[in-house]
Amino acid sequence: RKRIAVLTSGGDSQGMNAVVRAVIRTTISRGCEPYVIYEGYEGLLKGGDYIKRMYWDDVRGWLALGGTLIGTARCAEFKERAGRLRAAKNLVQAGIDAIIVCGGDGSLTGADVFRAEWPELLKELVNSKQIQPKDAENYKNLNICGVVGSIDNDMSSTDATIGAYSSLDRICEAVDYIDATAQSHSRAFVIEVMGRNCGWLALMAAIATGADYLFIPEKAPNAKEFGDKMCKIVARHRENGKRKTIVIVSEGAIDSDLKPVTANMVKDILVERLGLDTRVTTLGHVQRGGPAVAFDRLLATLQGVEAVDAILSLTPETASPLIALNENKICRKPLVDSVKMTKSVAEAINNKEFAKAMSLRDPEFIE
Ligand code: ATP
Repeated sequence: RKRIAVLTSGGDSQGMNAVVRAVIRTTISRGCEPYVIYEGYEGLLKGGDYIKRMYWDDVRGWLALGGTLIGTARCAEFKERAGRLRAAKNLVQAGIDAIIVCGGDGSLTGADVFRAEWPELLKELVNSKQIQPKDAENYKNLNICGVVGSIDNDMSSTDATIGAYSSLDRICEAVDYIDATAQSHSRAFVIEVMGRNCGWLALMAAIATGADYLFIPEKAPNAKEFGDKMCKIVARHRENGKRKTIVIVSEGAIDSDLKPVTANMVKDILVERLGLDTRVTTLGHVQRGGPAVAFDRLLATLQGVEAVDAILSLTPETASPLIALNENKICRKPLVDSVKMTKSVAEAINNKEFAKAMSLRDPEFIE
Protein backbone atom coordinates (compact mmCIF):
# COMPACT_ATOMS: atom_id res chain seq x y z
CA ARG A 1 0.00 0.00 0.00
CA LYS A 2 1.40 3.30 -1.12
CA ARG A 3 1.77 6.04 1.48
CA ILE A 4 0.95 9.41 -0.01
CA ALA A 5 1.63 12.60 1.95
CA VAL A 6 0.35 16.10 1.26
CA LEU A 7 1.84 19.41 2.42
CA THR A 8 1.08 23.08 1.89
CA SER A 9 3.97 25.51 1.45
CA GLY A 10 4.71 29.19 0.73
CA GLY A 11 1.95 31.78 1.00
CA ASP A 12 -1.45 30.46 2.10
CA SER A 13 -4.46 30.65 -0.16
CA GLN A 14 -8.14 29.83 0.05
CA GLY A 15 -8.76 26.32 -1.25
CA MET A 16 -5.62 24.71 0.20
CA ASN A 17 -7.77 22.88 2.75
CA ALA A 18 -9.98 21.60 -0.03
CA VAL A 19 -6.87 20.20 -1.77
CA VAL A 20 -5.80 18.41 1.42
CA ARG A 21 -9.31 17.01 1.88
CA ALA A 22 -9.47 15.77 -1.71
CA VAL A 23 -6.02 14.17 -1.51
CA ILE A 24 -6.77 12.39 1.79
CA ARG A 25 -10.10 11.02 0.66
CA THR A 26 -8.97 10.03 -2.84
CA THR A 27 -5.91 8.28 -1.39
CA ILE A 28 -8.19 6.26 0.88
CA SER A 29 -10.60 5.41 -1.90
CA ARG A 30 -7.71 4.21 -4.10
CA GLY A 31 -6.69 1.77 -1.35
CA CYS A 32 -3.61 3.72 -0.19
CA GLU A 33 -2.60 5.41 3.08
CA PRO A 34 -2.81 9.21 3.35
CA TYR A 35 -0.52 11.39 5.47
CA VAL A 36 -0.17 15.09 6.08
CA ILE A 37 3.06 16.94 6.71
CA TYR A 38 2.44 19.92 9.01
CA GLU A 39 4.08 23.33 8.44
CA GLY A 40 5.32 22.74 4.89
CA TYR A 41 8.98 21.78 4.45
CA GLU A 42 9.61 22.84 8.04
CA GLY A 43 7.60 19.80 9.16
CA LEU A 44 9.45 17.55 6.74
CA LEU A 45 12.71 18.59 8.38
CA LYS A 46 11.34 18.08 11.88
CA GLY A 47 9.75 14.68 11.14
CA GLY A 48 8.15 12.74 14.03
CA ASP A 49 4.74 14.14 14.95
CA TYR A 50 4.89 16.55 12.01
CA ILE A 51 4.16 13.62 9.66
CA LYS A 52 0.76 12.24 10.57
CA ARG A 53 -1.47 9.46 9.28
CA MET A 54 -4.91 10.80 8.33
CA TYR A 55 -8.36 9.25 8.12
CA TRP A 56 -11.56 10.11 6.27
CA ASP A 57 -13.17 11.97 9.18
CA ASP A 58 -10.08 14.07 9.91
CA VAL A 59 -10.88 16.42 7.03
CA ARG A 60 -14.62 16.70 7.58
CA GLY A 61 -15.74 20.32 7.10
CA TRP A 62 -12.48 21.42 5.42
CA LEU A 63 -13.89 22.02 1.93
CA ALA A 64 -14.77 25.70 2.27
CA LEU A 65 -12.34 26.86 4.95
CA GLY A 66 -9.79 29.54 4.04
CA GLY A 67 -6.08 29.39 4.83
CA THR A 68 -4.44 26.04 5.51
CA LEU A 69 -5.25 24.00 8.61
CA ILE A 70 -2.07 21.91 8.31
CA GLY A 71 0.03 25.06 8.40
CA THR A 72 2.48 26.51 5.94
CA ALA A 73 5.95 27.98 6.30
CA ARG A 74 8.92 29.31 4.43
CA CYS A 75 11.86 27.09 5.27
CA ALA A 76 15.34 28.36 4.42
CA GLU A 77 16.97 25.08 5.53
CA PHE A 78 15.16 23.11 2.84
CA LYS A 79 17.03 25.18 0.25
CA GLU A 80 20.27 23.62 1.54
CA ARG A 81 21.30 20.07 0.75
CA ALA A 82 21.87 19.29 4.45
CA GLY A 83 18.26 20.20 5.18
CA ARG A 84 16.97 18.03 2.35
CA LEU A 85 19.09 15.13 3.63
CA ARG A 86 17.30 15.34 6.98
CA ALA A 87 13.97 15.54 5.19
CA ALA A 88 14.81 12.40 3.19
CA LYS A 89 15.66 10.50 6.37
CA ASN A 90 12.36 11.52 7.98
CA LEU A 91 10.40 10.45 4.93
CA VAL A 92 12.08 7.04 4.74
CA GLN A 93 11.50 6.53 8.46
CA ALA A 94 7.81 7.36 8.03
CA GLY A 95 7.66 5.09 4.98
CA ILE A 96 6.30 7.79 2.67
CA ASP A 97 6.54 7.00 -1.08
CA ALA A 98 5.04 10.10 -2.59
CA ILE A 99 4.39 13.76 -1.78
CA ILE A 100 1.79 16.11 -3.19
CA VAL A 101 2.96 19.69 -2.71
CA CYS A 102 0.42 22.50 -2.79
CA GLY A 103 2.19 25.85 -3.08
CA GLY A 104 3.65 28.45 -5.37
CA ASP A 105 6.55 28.23 -7.81
CA GLY A 106 9.18 28.33 -5.01
CA SER A 107 7.62 25.36 -3.24
CA LEU A 108 7.33 23.41 -6.47
CA THR A 109 10.95 24.17 -7.42
CA GLY A 110 11.99 22.85 -4.01
CA ALA A 111 9.93 19.71 -4.54
CA ASP A 112 11.57 18.99 -7.86
CA VAL A 113 15.10 19.65 -6.56
CA PHE A 114 14.35 17.14 -3.79
CA ARG A 115 13.05 14.52 -6.22
CA ALA A 116 16.06 14.89 -8.53
CA GLU A 117 18.49 14.53 -5.61
CA TRP A 118 16.63 11.63 -4.00
CA PRO A 119 18.91 8.71 -5.13
CA GLU A 120 22.01 10.63 -3.99
CA LEU A 121 20.42 11.51 -0.67
CA LEU A 122 19.54 7.85 -0.07
CA LYS A 123 23.09 6.77 -0.90
CA GLU A 124 24.47 9.28 1.60
CA LEU A 125 22.01 8.14 4.29
CA VAL A 126 23.03 4.50 3.78
CA ASN A 127 26.75 5.32 3.77
CA SER A 128 26.43 7.28 6.99
CA LYS A 129 24.34 4.39 8.44
CA GLN A 130 21.34 6.63 9.07
CA ILE A 131 19.07 4.24 7.17
CA GLN A 132 19.31 0.55 6.28
CA PRO A 133 20.25 -0.52 2.72
CA LYS A 134 16.90 -2.34 2.42
CA ASP A 135 15.07 0.94 3.13
CA ALA A 136 17.00 2.61 0.33
CA GLU A 137 15.92 -0.26 -1.93
CA ASN A 138 12.26 0.03 -0.85
CA TYR A 139 12.14 3.81 -1.36
CA LYS A 140 14.25 4.05 -4.53
CA ASN A 141 12.03 6.66 -6.14
CA LEU A 142 10.28 9.58 -4.59
CA ASN A 143 7.17 10.54 -6.51
CA ILE A 144 6.25 14.20 -6.44
CA CYS A 145 3.23 15.99 -7.81
CA GLY A 146 2.54 19.73 -7.69
CA VAL A 147 -0.77 21.52 -7.25
CA VAL A 148 -0.66 25.30 -7.45
CA GLY A 149 -2.08 27.13 -4.46
CA SER A 150 -1.58 30.88 -4.76
CA ILE A 151 -3.81 33.94 -4.66
CA ASP A 152 -1.63 35.63 -7.29
CA ASN A 153 -2.51 33.43 -10.31
CA ASP A 154 1.12 33.73 -11.30
CA MET A 155 1.95 30.22 -12.51
CA SER A 156 2.53 29.69 -16.23
CA SER A 157 0.79 26.77 -17.91
CA THR A 158 -2.32 26.86 -15.76
CA ASP A 159 -5.26 29.19 -16.30
CA ALA A 160 -6.08 29.53 -12.61
CA THR A 161 -4.25 28.86 -9.36
CA ILE A 162 -6.21 27.72 -6.33
CA GLY A 163 -7.20 30.77 -4.26
CA ALA A 164 -6.98 33.40 -7.00
CA TYR A 165 -10.73 33.66 -7.56
CA SER A 166 -11.46 33.79 -3.80
CA SER A 167 -8.96 36.58 -3.41
CA LEU A 168 -10.44 38.40 -6.40
CA ASP A 169 -13.84 38.11 -4.76
CA ARG A 170 -12.50 39.64 -1.50
CA ILE A 171 -10.96 42.54 -3.45
CA CYS A 172 -14.15 43.24 -5.40
CA GLU A 173 -16.20 43.19 -2.21
CA ALA A 174 -13.81 45.65 -0.56
CA VAL A 175 -13.83 47.96 -3.59
CA ASP A 176 -17.64 47.87 -3.60
CA TYR A 177 -17.57 49.05 0.04
CA ILE A 178 -15.13 51.83 -0.81
CA ASP A 179 -17.25 52.83 -3.80
CA ALA A 180 -20.13 53.79 -1.53
CA THR A 181 -18.10 56.22 0.54
CA ALA A 182 -16.13 57.52 -2.46
CA GLN A 183 -19.39 58.31 -4.21
CA SER A 184 -20.82 60.06 -1.14
CA HIS A 185 -17.86 62.43 -0.72
CA SER A 186 -16.94 62.61 -4.40
CA ARG A 187 -13.50 61.28 -3.48
CA ALA A 188 -10.76 59.39 -5.27
CA PHE A 189 -9.38 56.18 -3.79
CA VAL A 190 -6.12 54.53 -4.70
CA ILE A 191 -6.35 50.86 -3.75
CA GLU A 192 -3.30 48.67 -3.45
CA VAL A 193 -3.84 44.98 -4.10
CA MET A 194 -1.57 41.94 -3.82
CA GLY A 195 -0.07 39.94 -6.68
CA ARG A 196 3.71 40.39 -6.49
CA ASN A 197 5.11 40.18 -10.02
CA CYS A 198 1.74 39.38 -11.47
CA GLY A 199 -0.98 41.94 -12.24
CA TRP A 200 -3.79 39.40 -12.66
CA LEU A 201 -5.60 40.27 -9.41
CA ALA A 202 -5.35 44.00 -10.10
CA LEU A 203 -6.45 43.71 -13.72
CA MET A 204 -9.41 41.42 -13.03
CA ALA A 205 -10.48 43.52 -10.04
CA ALA A 206 -10.28 46.71 -12.13
CA ILE A 207 -12.53 45.22 -14.80
CA ALA A 208 -14.93 43.68 -12.29
CA THR A 209 -15.34 46.90 -10.31
CA GLY A 210 -15.25 49.37 -13.20
CA ALA A 211 -12.14 51.12 -11.89
CA ASP A 212 -10.97 54.26 -13.68
CA TYR A 213 -7.33 53.24 -14.08
CA LEU A 214 -4.80 50.67 -12.94
CA PHE A 215 -1.09 50.04 -12.63
CA ILE A 216 0.32 46.53 -13.10
CA PRO A 217 3.86 45.20 -13.49
CA GLU A 218 3.22 43.82 -16.99
CA LYS A 219 2.32 47.24 -18.41
CA ALA A 220 4.86 49.67 -16.99
CA PRO A 221 3.86 53.31 -17.57
CA ASN A 222 6.43 55.53 -19.25
CA ALA A 223 8.52 57.02 -16.43
CA LYS A 224 8.93 60.37 -18.24
CA GLU A 225 5.20 60.90 -18.59
CA PHE A 226 4.20 59.21 -15.35
CA GLY A 227 0.59 59.93 -14.42
CA ASP A 228 -0.28 61.79 -17.63
CA LYS A 229 -2.57 59.13 -19.09
CA MET A 230 -4.23 58.45 -15.78
CA CYS A 231 -4.97 62.13 -15.23
CA LYS A 232 -6.35 62.53 -18.76
CA ILE A 233 -8.71 59.60 -18.33
CA VAL A 234 -9.77 60.44 -14.77
CA ALA A 235 -10.38 64.09 -15.74
CA ARG A 236 -12.58 62.98 -18.65
CA HIS A 237 -14.57 60.62 -16.41
CA ARG A 238 -15.11 63.48 -13.95
CA GLU A 239 -16.19 65.83 -16.77
CA ASN A 240 -18.68 63.18 -17.81
CA GLY A 241 -20.26 63.43 -14.38
CA LYS A 242 -18.58 60.63 -12.42
CA ARG A 243 -18.48 61.48 -8.68
CA LYS A 244 -15.93 58.88 -7.63
CA THR A 245 -12.54 57.75 -8.85
CA ILE A 246 -11.00 54.34 -8.24
CA VAL A 247 -7.39 53.61 -9.22
CA ILE A 248 -6.04 50.13 -8.54
CA VAL A 249 -2.31 49.63 -7.99
CA SER A 250 -0.80 46.18 -8.02
CA GLU A 251 1.80 45.79 -5.26
CA GLY A 252 4.47 44.90 -7.83
CA ALA A 253 3.70 47.75 -10.24
CA ILE A 254 6.75 49.44 -11.77
CA ASP A 255 7.41 52.19 -14.28
CA SER A 256 9.48 51.87 -17.47
CA ASP A 257 12.64 52.62 -15.42
CA LEU A 258 11.68 49.69 -13.15
CA LYS A 259 11.01 52.05 -10.23
CA PRO A 260 8.16 50.90 -7.96
CA VAL A 261 4.82 52.62 -8.52
CA THR A 262 3.32 53.12 -5.07
CA ALA A 263 -0.22 54.00 -4.08
CA ASN A 264 1.05 57.15 -2.35
CA MET A 265 2.79 58.34 -5.52
CA VAL A 266 -0.46 57.92 -7.43
CA LYS A 267 -2.42 59.67 -4.69
CA ASP A 268 -0.06 62.70 -4.77
CA ILE A 269 -0.56 63.04 -8.52
CA LEU A 270 -4.35 62.94 -8.22
CA VAL A 271 -4.23 65.58 -5.48
CA GLU A 272 -1.68 67.87 -7.10
CA ARG A 273 -2.76 67.71 -10.74
CA LEU A 274 -6.51 67.18 -10.47
CA GLY A 275 -7.21 68.59 -7.01
CA LEU A 276 -9.10 65.46 -5.99
CA ASP A 277 -9.70 64.62 -2.35
CA THR A 278 -7.81 61.33 -2.45
CA ARG A 279 -7.31 58.50 0.05
CA VAL A 280 -5.17 55.39 -0.07
CA THR A 281 -6.47 51.98 0.98
CA THR A 282 -4.09 49.04 1.21
CA LEU A 283 -6.25 45.94 1.30
CA GLY A 284 -3.50 43.75 2.78
CA HIS A 285 -4.14 40.32 4.23
CA VAL A 286 -7.92 40.62 4.03
CA GLN A 287 -7.35 39.44 0.45
CA ARG A 288 -6.09 36.07 1.68
CA GLY A 289 -8.93 35.60 4.16
CA GLY A 290 -12.42 34.17 4.24
CA PRO A 291 -13.83 31.01 2.71
CA ALA A 292 -12.95 29.64 -0.71
CA VAL A 293 -15.42 30.62 -3.42
CA ALA A 294 -17.21 27.82 -5.28
CA PHE A 295 -14.74 27.91 -8.18
CA ASP A 296 -11.77 27.33 -5.86
CA ARG A 297 -13.55 24.52 -4.03
CA LEU A 298 -14.18 22.82 -7.37
CA LEU A 299 -10.68 23.43 -8.72
CA ALA A 300 -9.05 22.22 -5.50
CA THR A 301 -11.20 19.09 -5.37
CA LEU A 302 -10.74 18.13 -9.03
CA GLN A 303 -7.00 18.84 -8.90
CA GLY A 304 -6.55 16.99 -5.60
CA VAL A 305 -8.17 13.89 -7.11
CA GLU A 306 -6.06 14.22 -10.26
CA ALA A 307 -2.87 14.63 -8.19
CA VAL A 308 -3.42 11.28 -6.45
CA ASP A 309 -4.23 9.56 -9.74
CA ALA A 310 -1.13 11.12 -11.32
CA ILE A 311 1.04 9.82 -8.46
CA LEU A 312 -0.41 6.32 -8.87
CA SER A 313 0.30 6.27 -12.60
CA LEU A 314 3.88 7.61 -12.43
CA THR A 315 6.75 5.45 -13.60
CA PRO A 316 10.36 6.18 -12.55
CA GLU A 317 10.90 7.68 -16.02
CA THR A 318 8.00 10.17 -15.96
CA ALA A 319 8.86 13.73 -15.00
CA SER A 320 7.06 15.15 -11.96
CA PRO A 321 3.67 16.45 -13.03
CA LEU A 322 2.00 19.71 -12.15
CA ILE A 323 -1.78 19.60 -12.14
CA ALA A 324 -3.04 22.43 -14.30
CA LEU A 325 -6.26 23.87 -15.66
CA ASN A 326 -6.31 24.49 -19.41
CA GLU A 327 -9.46 25.71 -21.14
CA ASN A 328 -11.61 24.32 -18.34
CA LYS A 329 -9.96 20.91 -18.34
CA ILE A 330 -7.85 19.50 -15.54
CA CYS A 331 -4.59 18.25 -17.03
CA ARG A 332 -1.01 17.26 -16.19
CA LYS A 333 1.98 19.35 -17.26
CA PRO A 334 5.70 18.82 -16.66
CA LEU A 335 6.35 20.60 -13.36
CA VAL A 336 9.91 21.70 -14.20
CA ASP A 337 8.89 23.35 -17.49
CA SER A 338 6.02 25.22 -15.84
CA VAL A 339 8.25 26.54 -13.08
CA LYS A 340 10.92 27.57 -15.61
CA MET A 341 8.38 29.41 -17.73
CA THR A 342 6.99 31.18 -14.65
CA LYS A 343 10.47 32.36 -13.67
CA SER A 344 11.25 33.62 -17.17
CA VAL A 345 8.01 35.64 -17.25
CA ALA A 346 8.95 37.27 -13.92
CA GLU A 347 12.45 38.01 -15.27
CA ALA A 348 11.06 39.54 -18.46
CA ILE A 349 8.79 41.86 -16.48
CA ASN A 350 11.78 43.08 -14.49
CA ASN A 351 13.81 43.71 -17.63
CA LYS A 352 14.20 47.35 -18.63
CA GLU A 353 13.91 46.77 -22.38
CA PHE A 354 10.70 44.78 -21.91
CA ALA A 355 9.25 47.43 -19.59
CA LYS A 356 10.08 50.16 -22.13
CA ALA A 357 8.57 48.20 -25.02
CA MET A 358 5.38 47.57 -23.05
CA SER A 359 5.11 51.22 -22.03
CA LEU A 360 4.98 52.20 -25.71
CA ARG A 361 2.20 49.77 -26.61
CA ASP A 362 -1.49 50.23 -26.26
CA PRO A 363 -1.44 53.82 -24.99
CA GLU A 364 -5.03 54.08 -23.73
CA PHE A 365 -5.03 51.10 -21.43
CA ILE A 366 -8.38 51.70 -19.82
CA GLU A 367 -10.68 54.13 -21.52
P1 ATP B 1 4.15 32.06 -2.89
O1 ATP B 1 3.97 32.20 -4.38
O2 ATP B 1 2.88 32.14 -2.16
O3 ATP B 1 5.22 32.91 -2.30
P2 ATP B 1 6.08 29.97 -3.01
O4 ATP B 1 5.94 28.50 -2.95
O5 ATP B 1 6.61 30.54 -4.29
O6 ATP B 1 4.66 30.55 -2.64
P3 ATP B 1 8.56 30.51 -1.61
O7 ATP B 1 8.81 31.27 -0.35
O8 ATP B 1 9.26 30.94 -2.84
O9 ATP B 1 6.97 30.48 -1.79
O10 ATP B 1 8.95 28.97 -1.35
C1 ATP B 1 8.42 28.26 -0.25
C2 ATP B 1 9.46 27.29 0.28
O11 ATP B 1 9.84 26.36 -0.75
C3 ATP B 1 10.78 27.93 0.71
O12 ATP B 1 10.71 28.47 2.00
C4 ATP B 1 11.72 26.74 0.66
O13 ATP B 1 11.56 25.92 1.79
C5 ATP B 1 11.20 25.99 -0.57
N1 ATP B 1 11.99 26.37 -1.76
C6 ATP B 1 11.81 27.47 -2.55
N2 ATP B 1 12.74 27.51 -3.54
C7 ATP B 1 13.53 26.42 -3.35
C8 ATP B 1 14.69 25.88 -4.03
N3 ATP B 1 15.20 26.49 -5.11
N4 ATP B 1 15.23 24.74 -3.56
C9 ATP B 1 14.71 24.12 -2.49
N5 ATP B 1 13.64 24.58 -1.79
C10 ATP B 1 13.06 25.70 -2.22
